[in-house]
Amino acid sequence: DTIGDNFDRTVAAYEDRLALVDRAGGRRWTYRELAAEVDALALGLLDLGIAKGDRVGIWAPNCAEWVFTQYATAKIGAILVNINPAYRVHELEYVLGQAGIRTLVATPSFKTSDYAAMIAEVRPNCPALRDVLLIGSSEWTSVVDTGRNADRAPLADTQSRLSADDPINIQYTSGTTGFPKGATLSHHNILNNGYFVGELCGYTEADKICIPVPFYHCFGMVMGNLAATSHGACMVIPAPSFEPKATLQAVQAERCTSLYGVPTMFIAELAEPDFDSYDLASLRTGIMAGSPCPVEVMKQVVERMGMTEVTICYGMTETSPVSTQTRADDSLDRRVSTVGRVHPHVEIKIVDPVTGLTVPRGTPGELCTRGYSVMLGYWEQPDKTAEAIDRARWMHTGDLAVMDDDGYVNITGRIKDMVIRGGENIYPREIEEFLYTHPDILDAQVIGVPDEKYGEELMAWVRLRQGAEPLTAERLREFCTGKLAHYKIPRYVHIVDEFPMTVTGKVRKVEMRERAVEILG
Ligand code: ATP
Ligand code: MG
Repeated sequence: DTIGDNFDRTVAAYEDRLALVDRAGGRRWTYRELAAEVDALALGLLDLGIAKGDRVGIWAPNCAEWVFTQYATAKIGAILVNINPAYRVHELEYVLGQAGIRTLVATPSFKTSDYAAMIAEVRPNCPALRDVLLIGSSEWTSVVDTGRNADRAPLADTQSRLSADDPINIQYTSGTTGFPKGATLSHHNILNNGYFVGELCGYTEADKICIPVPFYHCFGMVMGNLAATSHGACMVIPAPSFEPKATLQAVQAERCTSLYGVPTMFIAELAEPDFDSYDLASLRTGIMAGSPCPVEVMKQVVERMGMTEVTICYGMTETSPVSTQTRADDSLDRRVSTVGRVHPHVEIKIVDPVTGLTVPRGTPGELCTRGYSVMLGYWEQPDKTAEAIDRARWMHTGDLAVMDDDGYVNITGRIKDMVIRGGENIYPREIEEFLYTHPDILDAQVIGVPDEKYGEELMAWVRLRQGAEPLTAERLREFCTGKLAHYKIPRYVHIVDEFPMTVTGKVRKVEMRERAVEILG
């Protein structure tokens, strides 16, 4: 299927069911109403002269128009380019040029940022950019109105000529380890992945999925939107960008059955002072993904949020994104402590990063993945594509993992984050898991810092719970002594209010390492 054909099938089957709720504007659409918006925009874009393969950028926080644009572009075969809402002029200009964006859909402003002014500033330097459609502006309304009154034949005709293997989306990676890369993905890549994620969550038209993760990232637009629309489920947007209170309120008010988040979002929700006053009884499942999911947090999600069927997904933008997922019938222990087993129709293997040979079960190595889900390539970066995808089509993820005898996978960290101290390989993840068990620690991240004697030393960055006594390096080391091998005990402790983060909610260890060097002088 193409995304448009799959969407139309869902609309036909579930016309009167609720499809989308945008809490910020108090707006709601049934599938029939959503289809009317999508088709009007698709026809309006065709009228603007947008053809298959043209790039249409979207630069906005989560809102209903993001969803309209996602499906409207898919229906006419335009390549949607997701632009990070945190970008500013310099990065915007780069993406507009790199992806050759012809039409840009954007929010006019959000919070204190004037998006319209930033677009006006870069526009003279972006010759490929022909149309700017600011959501809600007269240009936007006129395109949609034109579409509403247009003859539908050109849309049906365009849609019928698309192929499921056409590129349909350029999604940028989170930029956790460096500059974001634009993964080019087909209908087949992301629609199938969204569908199988939904299957493993057991979605039906009765589900309502609360999506506080950004649409600009695959977590929101594939595991959220495409999983929902391929099953007739409802998408709920709690707020334009993540707010713990708005998320809890949305779950309660809309009776959501599923809730998404990266670990830091669940940590923030659980830490809300009035957490216990929310009625979250409607929650059945959800997805935690994006970075290592601490066992302690998973347990609380199950026990305090009642998400008894919650799953963990592991994946990356380049693989559409999900490669492994826990299943509802996995034991609780496996559901909280592994990233599950390989996804349907996907292959994974774990290899020695040096020899490239598959390692025995239980031995750590680099996780590689192959199948329908592997991206077409990085947009106009053939060298980078060749570095990531080998000649047998295996995607080398850069993640370290262990697979047990039953096929359950544990992610032990990124190759780039592994610390080598005095010849010992240290996986920060293991130490972070241990630090979570400290009653005063809300969140902990461990990095390697340069050291003359050992090559690298460990530094823990710690966020403390409200009202906790300040924690010294000495007291933290005492806590670790006897429980962790001596070389895994962090030498330095740095207390912070926040970690440096990506918009997708991931901790930027690269930036922490740079800052640590400054801190240690
Ligand atoms: P960049 O590639 O730009 O540095 P990024 O890798 O964070 O950023 P994404 O594609 O958003 O960009 O994230 C994929 C990565 O996130 C994976 O390679 C892995 O390191 C991490 N990840 C995703 N899910 C999990 C998980 N469940 N457990 C541990 N790590 C995860
Ligand atoms: Mg990556």
